[in-house]
Amino acid sequence: MTWLRKAKEGLKAQQRRRELPDGLWTKCEDCGEILYHKELERNLWTCSKCSYHFRISARAYIKILVDDETFVERFSEVVSTDPLKFRDAKRYSDRLKKAREETGLSEAVVCGEGRIEDHPCVVAIMDFSFLGGSLASAAGERIARSILLAIETRRPLLILSASGGARMFEGILSLMQMAKTNALLARLSDAGVPYISIMTHPTTGGVTASFASVGDVILAEPKALIGFAGPRVIKQTINQELPEGFQRSEFLLQKGMVDRIVHRTELKKTVAWLLHFFAAGAAISQKPRRRAGESLERFRSASLPVGTALPPAPTASAEVVPAGIEAPEPSPNGAPAPAAPSEPPVPAKVREVRVEE
Ligand SMILES: [Zn+2]
Repeated sequence: MTWLRKAKEGLKAQQRRRELPDGLWTKCEDCGEILYHKELERNLWTCSKCSYHFRISARAYIKILVDDETFVERFSEVVSTDPLKFRDAKRYSDRLKKAREETGLSEAVVCGEGRIEDHPCVVAIMDFSFLGGSLASAAGERIARSILLAIETRRPLLILSASGGARMFEGILSLMQMAKTNALLARLSDAGVPYISIMTHPTTGGVTASFASVGDVILAEPKALIGFAGPRVIKQTINQELPEGFQRSEFLLQKGMVDRIVHRTELKKTVAWLLHFFAAGAAISQKPRRRAGESLERFRSASLPVGTALPPAPTASAEVVPAGIEAPEPSPNGAPAPAAPSEPPVPAKVREVRVEE
């Protein structure tokens, strides 16, 4: 008996030793490797052995993605109230208060403007530690305003998702954010402003079912859980075994729902490359051909690259010859091509000129 007890105690002691990291060391949550804190930080919170991606805050993502000292936070004044006076085990208002104290954030998403390798853009970054990164009225409103800002300034939009879905404490008001953000994203697409979506672990529920899934380019971190309903619910509903790796980014890449899986240490470089690609593409496809002797006026706004605000609309419509601007060709990767700037209707006189040509 003593011998057995000793063996048991020995096992326990060993386990305890592996959990010891405090400050200096951190244990990988996936492979159990003990990682030196500083090295982990250098690797942007990814395991050097199995490349497990630790969950990090919105602020940490901003530091990783956005150029130093270029980020300006916007819409932080938009905060959730408790419209339904919701209460389950705790009051929703108390949950909000606690989440604010613990995270130092006022909502589950941090929005703002900044530069990524010098490309100006609008970013919205979700934080899972704030009530599970849940989408509620204020979070949705912040994202909606960021989309409008991207349309207005013609700067590419970047949304990084980490969410457990819609926030049930606000009921239908949370669900309505799905429709609101997607309607505005359709407007963004019509305006020809690119949108890059980054899915991190986990991106689920209403966020997957709305803005996270409609990016012109969808990137995902390795092994991230991405899905709508949880696997257990799906399994019960369809009464079938689920394939291996189901709802992980690698599986979604195979099925075409994700365009590329990007290691966190490569994330900024990849996003910057995409922004550069879009900016160059926009400059080419927006360039209308100029006819001999034609005024340069209509080229003013048309040749603007993505990332610059539209100039004020020209006043004299007779001077502007909008005819002949061809619809921009869709870019080769299937992303929506930048739209030609809004133009006044073609005056009859101009149309005659075109016929003669
Ligand atoms: Zn690991």
